[in-house]
Amino acid sequence: MIQFLNVSKTYEECRVALDRVTFELGRGEFGFLTGPSGAGKTTLLRLIYREALPDSGQVLIRGRNVGALPLSKVPFLRRRIGVVFQDCRLIDRKTVFENVGYLPRVLGIGLRDRRRLAYQALRQVGLAHRMRSFPPELSRGEQQRVAIARALINEPEILLADEPTGNLDPELSREVFRVFRQINATGTTVLAATHSPALITEFGGRVLVLDRGRLVGDQRLVGRHGPDYLQLVQEEPRRVARRGGP
Ligand code: ADP
Repeated sequence: MIQFLNVSKTYEECRVALDRVTFELGRGEFGFLTGPSGAGKTTLLRLIYREALPDSGQVLIRGRNVGALPLSKVPFLRRRIGVVFQDCRLIDRKTVFENVGYLPRVLGIGLRDRRRLAYQALRQVGLAHRMRSFPPELSRGEQQRVAIARALINEPEILLADEPTGNLDPELSREVFRVFRQINATGTTVLAATHSPALITEFGGRVLVLDRGRLVGDQRLVGRHGPDYLQLVQEEPRRVARRGGP
């Protein structure tokens, strides 16, 4: 689904952000991108949704070279990729529905369909009942889940997250990653950048480690949560939380 072939990227002032990075993340995989600050994680994600271009090498999404896409095709690429950032970037004076349904509105989709799409996306993050709330009325974990719903509105094939729990405490961080796991269980490929070794060992998945622009680790880690856990979470999130996790 996502392929990097010898990708290098250097910013001005000769800052090497990525240095000959090669890997492949398959369809439906759940990947963590980790490494110290400045390792190149954000740059790698930006190359996937063509917010940046590589200096050399190729970034392929479903076999298509993203760097060679004509500008007119970039919006189509971005509709297939949802992105979640550390700061939720929600508009406080707009309702949850308006925030989540913003993109379909720009695309000219009518109110009734926007409501349906927003409801579906919010249901995936367990917040369908908060459509009419305003972001300041929600907890920070809920706000981040709204941001995830906004990224899901187009039913993307790929969900990217750049330090999505950087502002959250450990319990809320787990809540966000449980949501990612559930989204992944529906077939969406997920790649999330995080500093947190605790989250990685807890959830497991493909772990790509960057250090000063080089890919220094690539392994599959079995997390503490098996498929049974996922089922429990989907059925009854509170009970699992009260038991202090599995
Ligand atoms: P991470 O997300 O792992 O913290 P980044 O991809 O943000 O890493 O940054 C990798 C390197 O590229 C760092 O040395 C950073 O200072 C540099 N860098 C990132 N963005 C820019 C930019 N827009 N201009 C110049 N240098 C940048």
